Amino acid sequence: MKRRGLRLSDFGYNDWEQAGKVNVYATNGVELSSIEKTIDIINDVISEFNLPLLVLNGNASKSEDMPRIESLIVSNTSDNLIDCESSLTELQRYWNDGILRYGLIILVSPERYKFKNDPSATEPACYGWTDNQGLSVLRRFDIQNAIRHEFGHMVGLGHHQSCAMDWNCSVHKFCAKCIKDINEIWELNPNSACGAGGSIKPGA
Ligand SMILES: [Zn+2]
Ligand SMILES: [Zn+2]
Repeated sequence: MKRRGLRLSDFGYNDWEQAGKVNVYATNGVELSSIEKTIDIINDVISEFNLPLLVLNGNASKSEDMPRIESLIVSNTSDNLIDCESSLTELQRYWNDGILRYGLIILVSPERYKFKNDPSATEPACYGWTDNQGLSVLRRFDIQNAIRHEFGHMVGLGHHQSCAMDWNCSVHKFCAKCIKDINEIWELNPNSACGAGGSIKPGA
């Protein structure tokens, strides 16, 4: 849940959204042009939900963090299977040291990586793995609906049938319930022109 009124220095790792920033990184083997394409899709979701977030090209704007991010993937991978849970644990250690304090989206090469899933998982990660504590790892960023779905998880949504949060990523649009949930999670007031995004749409 979003808690307002905290100073940046007070937030814990699950308060990444207080930073107001999301950095998208391409790791080894991923074309740099994939970053801007991913950012465009995420920006669409941000404006649909009117979220107070800025999405940046991490490779360009925060290149000093790239070695850590590359190692966050490589050091938690064996037999080409990324253990995203352990990547998140490592990220939380960085976070507690005041490092990588932003929403983090990592694009990984689909040829090189798959996700390590628990054999009993009913909804195994295939296109992407995302935790609302600020980490999303995407291996199919060529599928627009998959990016929208994973970013939906990042900003707090769970699975929901017949909308973009449907597990199979076949649906483009977020449903009215998910939009309402986002307004509650982020404490947005959709009826106020002075809402969190501060934008006033003509005729809306
Ligand atoms: Zn999902
Ligand atoms: Zn929904």
